[in-house]
Formats: sequence, structure tokens, C-alpha cells
Amino acid sequence: MLTAESVKRKCRELGADLCGIGDIALFEGTAPQRDPRRILPEGRCVIGAGFRVPRGLYNCMRDRTQFINYVPLGVKYYDEELAEIFLLRIAAFIEDEGYDACVQRNVSNLRIKGDKSQNPELTDTYELIYAEPVEPGKPAPDVILDFAQAARICGLGAKGRSGAILTPEFGPYVRFVFIVTDAPLACDSPFNRELCDGCGMCEHACPGHAIGAEGKDTWQCSVYYRGAHESNPFMTEEFLKDDPRREEILKGRYRFDAKSARQIYPELDFLPEFCGYAPCLCGRACETACYAHLKEVGLLEDR
Ligand code: SF4
Ligand code: SF4
Repeated sequence: MLTAESVKRKCRELGADLCGIGDIALFEGTAPQRDPRRILPEGRCVIGAGFRVPRGLYNCMRDRTQFINYVPLGVKYYDEELAEIFLLRIAAFIEDEGYDACVQRNVSNLRIKGDKSQNPELTDTYELIYAEPVEPGKPAPDVILDFAQAARICGLGAKGRSGAILTPEFGPYVRFVFIVTDAPLACDSPFNRELCDGCGMCEHACPGHAIGAEGKDTWQCSVYYRGAHESNPFMTEEFLKDDPRREEILKGRYRFDAKSARQIYPELDFLPEFCGYAPCLCGRACETACYAHLKEVGLLEDR
């Protein structure tokens, strides 16, 4: 018989470091475009699984010793390989018991129109697709879960000012997948506290000033993530040599929007792309600063 315990045991067997189960009724009030009940109308709960990303990948970038491994191992591997194998295996486990399992992986270039909660690490194709609901009152395709909301409802963590989902176990160094299911599993309590204390360390650490009181400006982030700043170790004198905005851009003072960000991407070719993923040349400084802060104030489990 499928139980919350057997599902969690299986998640851990398949490599998850964290697992929580959230009551789908707690999504009441969610915009239809992000509501798991629009994905599986008979859904009873959402299963969340978290995978730790090794600290060393961040520390190497912080110490400016290595940048090349973070994106393939810390982003792509989790979202495109581990997540897929995990989700397909856990779906088979659930479906063998007679229930449906609608698997949800993070897709960095898929977001509902106007969503600014994710760093567009890949080409932002979805914003360009025209989609409309089949009838009024229904969401346009595709319905995409808000991972931060789902993590909170599953009791796993909560979003910080930087936009990252923070967990007591791994701070921001974790990536998530979710499964919407009609299996009647016992649910965990939602994550009812805040790990983010508004310290502002993420804001100060970002070389592009992409984080403010209202959260992260993802277009600003996408440009500085790709290295348009003076702390980029691969910066050259040739970069934007004849552009009057050069100094302002290098110091992170220039404000980018979707159009100006897209225009500058071709100049940000300091390292080769990896399977379509832009290299990370800001070192995810916001998350490294956040991790250090949470550790210092005792909000992270000591490992
Ligand atoms: S530090 Fe990097 S990932 Fe974080 S907000 Fe700034 S540019 Fe984006
Ligand atoms: S660095 Fe501070 S303000 Fe930023 S997300 Fe972490 S705890 Fe919140």
C-alpha cells in the first residue's frame, strides 16, 4: 500500500536529500496559471523532493578558482538528468499502486508570461509563444507550478529576498522537483517560518545590483550572471570598448530591461555556453552570501 512513509523512503532511495508532502487544498487562491489542481483536477497532494548542490561548486566561484563546473553540475545535471530519472522512477512507483503522478521539473526557460521570479538562464522561449485558454476562466497553456509556493506547502523551505528557496538543511544550495498526485497520502505541515531575515547580504553581494527590496530583477540578473561586471575574472579591455555605457555597466549601475539585456548577450561570450546554458560568471554571489549569513546566525543545520 502506498503511504507517505513509503513514498518518502523511495524518494530517498532514488537520491533525494529532502522530501515533503503538501496538501493540494492549500493551493486555494493560487492563480489558475500556477495551480496544480489545473494540472490534475483529481489531485490530492503534491510531493516535493530536494537535491543538495555541493557547497564546493559555489566556493570555487567565490574563491575565483573555477567557474566551469557550476552550470553543468550544479544546474543542468539536476534539472535535466537527475530530475528526469528521479521523476520517471518515482512516477512508476506511484502509478504501480494505481494512482496518477504528474511530474514537474524545473525548466529554466519556461515560465508563465510576466513571471520575473526566475533567472532566465536559457533563452526565454516561452515568453515568445502565443498561447490562449481554450475558454474563458481557464489558464493558458502551460500551467507551471510556482516552486517556491510548492516548497512552502510541502514543508521544505521558503523563498528569500534573493528569490532562492531557502531550506534549513542546505540554505539556497538545493534544487527541487515536484509530483502532483491523486494518491491519498498523509501531508506534512507547511513551512510556517521565514529563514530570510532581510539581512540584505544577497543584495550587497550581487555585482549587478539585481536584488532590491521588491526582489530580484531577472533581466538585470541575466546580464550580470553572464559576467558584465568588473569582478568577472575573464573580463577583457575589449569588452564594450567603444560603448559610452561601459563604465556604468561594469560597475553594475546600468539598468537593463528585456530588450537591452537581449542586445548585450552576444557580447557576453567570456566562456563557451554549455548545452545552451549560459556560463555563470557572477559566482551566484547572492546565494554564497546568503549561505554564509544563514550559517553565521545559526539558521542552518550544522553539517
Ligand atoms: S549574484 Fe548573480 S545570480 Fe545573484 S542576483 Fe546577482 S547576477 Fe543574479
Ligand atoms: S542574504 Fe539575507 S536577505 Fe538575502 S535571501 Fe539570504 S537571508 Fe534573505
